[in-house]
Amino acid sequence: MTPELELPKRIMITGGAGFLGSHLCDRLIQQGHEILCVDNFFTGSKRNIEHLMDHPRFELMRHDVTFPLYVEVDEIYNLACPASPVHYQFDPVQTTKTSVHGAINMLGLAKRTRAKIFQASTSEVYGDPEEHPQKESYWGKVNPIGIRSCYDEGKRCAETLFFDYHRQHQVEIKVARIFNTYGPRMHPNDGRVVSNFIVQALQGQSITLYGDGEQTRSFCYCDDLIEGFIRLMNTPSQVTGPLNLGNPHEFTIRQLAELVIELTGSQSDLIFKPLPQDDPKQRRPDITLAQTHLDWTPSVQLREGLEKTIRYFDQLLRDLKTVQG
Ligand code: NAD
Ligand code: UDP
Ligand code: UDP
Repeated sequence: MTPELELPKRIMITGGAGFLGSHLCDRLIQQGHEILCVDNFFTGSKRNIEHLMDHPRFELMRHDVTFPLYVEVDEIYNLACPASPVHYQFDPVQTTKTSVHGAINMLGLAKRTRAKIFQASTSEVYGDPEEHPQKESYWGKVNPIGIRSCYDEGKRCAETLFFDYHRQHQVEIKVARIFNTYGPRMHPNDGRVVSNFIVQALQGQSITLYGDGEQTRSFCYCDDLIEGFIRLMNTPSQVTGPLNLGNPHEFTIRQLAELVIELTGSQSDLIFKPLPQDDPKQRRPDITLAQTHLDWTPSVQLREGLEKTIRYFDQLLRDLKTVQG
């Protein structure tokens, strides 16, 4: 069935006011569905969804997923969780609670309503990987007691809960392991590398490379990722994941810095800062499974995606300047 012919569904998106969640709200509204956006606004922002507030098929609920929630829905996308190290390390206990208690509550809801449920898992389940590129069959190398553990182990435990609710209670699950994603509506102060570099370049500040800048990441543009989410949700019930979603094109952090400087025309210099603890040295998804099951492959190249993201941050910084007078 093509998405255009689908009957409208009532879809809940937890973390719907965040970076990825707000893009997902947009796409599902465009497809004719009714959206219940659930968010506690820890890192999300009303600005991300303000254009949807008056839409007749959009509803916003301020709620923390670590507490039970009783609503009637057909599908759940569970995205609630701070994603950047700066934010998830701000209150690490709450981060683990959000992943674990949040998963239990949303899975309990899915079990009661027989809703299909999607989990926004992460490449961080692979930790600092010894296998490269990372396939879904790799079990990962994660420090259980480090400063990233609240996020990594929280997400790993959430995957365990998803698969146990599936085996024990026949809940229909879709687990995506998301690799670094960027685009408009990223939080300007969340410390992630793409937003940091763009904001620094636009403001003529030094670009902060952690370590020697030779560590690698693979950056996926948000529109490509959201397409992957929706395709995964619409797969037959036997497709549970986990499935890697990301762009397999790998760059060093230094290459990213140089590209941002070129595209912004900035005079910023590069400065070096200490590498944070447990920072993975390399990361690139093997997306063979997603290509096979979803017929999906990212189409936006880094240069094109960065140009769009730079335009967004340029406007945002101008708006903030106007507000601050
Ligand atoms: P984000 O911080 O912009 O969005 C997270 C949203 O969840 C925010 O709106 C926040 O307010 C909300 N939230 C946090 N705790 C909550 C709670 N207890 N109850 C209700 N809402 C809560 O981050 P994002 O980049 O949009 O990430 C969305 C999801 O995708 C997260 O689960 C993240 O772990 C996952 N993910 C993102 C990336 C990436 O590169 N962006 C990579 C891997 C995984
Ligand atoms: N839950 C919820 N909404 C629902 C159903 C359940 O928030 O519609 C929560 C409920 O608080 C429970 C958790 O999900 O603690 C797990 O539900 P489950 O039915 O698996 O567990 P039980 O209620 O048997 O402890
Ligand atoms: N990084 C950097 N400078 C910054 C922010 C991040 O060099 O200002 C590095 C960071 O150490 C990591 C990579 O960029 O190696 C990606 O960091 P990010 O926080 O975006 O994502 P994650 O580490 O979760 O993949």
